[in-house]
Amino acid sequence: MRPATCATTYAIALGSNRWSRHGAPAATIRSALVAVGGIVAVSPIIASAPLGPSIRRYANAVAMIESTEDPAALLVRLKRIERAFGRRRGRRWGSRVIDLDIVLWSGGAWISPGLAVPHAAYRDRNFVLGPLVTIAPDWRDPRTGETMRHLAAKVDRPRPRT
Ligand code: ATP
Ligand code: CA
Ligand code: CA
Repeated sequence: MRPATCATTYAIALGSNRWSRHGAPAATIRSALVAVGGIVAVSPIIASAPLGPSIRRYANAVAMIESTEDPAALLVRLKRIERAFGRRRGRRWGSRVIDLDIVLWSGGAWISPGLAVPHAAYRDRNFVLGPLVTIAPDWRDPRTGETMRHLAAKVDRPRPRT
């Protein structure tokens, strides 16, 4: 029997480079996964160098979750979880206890005020594509049609200098 509500699948990127009351960055990511819920698959937690002004290394992971929320509603809930974990407003890319981004969803592309899915920068980010390819290698980007396997192989390759 089909369920009465129609769940969609999301790929969520998690990042942390500060301790929280849940512990070190990797432990904070594990607690955030419990808070988000609906988990179908979780990548390994990796360590990555920081982007931008921060100097602390990050723990990163990607999870597939199922939810009946649309992307806008899910983002509201993710931001609430970020605040509950102690994230403060600050510089973009500054140190943070937890960052929760919507990378992809099974509904294709989504644009609403303050939200674009697929995430605007994920195609250039090793620390997203590396974990993502371990759990969703055949998922295709709705804009370019490329698989995550293909995107991850491309981002790994050093770019020719122009
Ligand atoms: P980046 O978006 O480059 O990863 P960031 O995660 O550090 O940077 P934030 O300060 O967490 O940036 O978020 C900035 C804004 O990005 C959020 O307030 C949110 O409205 C917006 N946003 C747009 N698209 C997305 C998305 N797919 N997932 C999460 N936030 C998004
Ligand atoms: Ca981010
Ligand atoms: Ca974010």
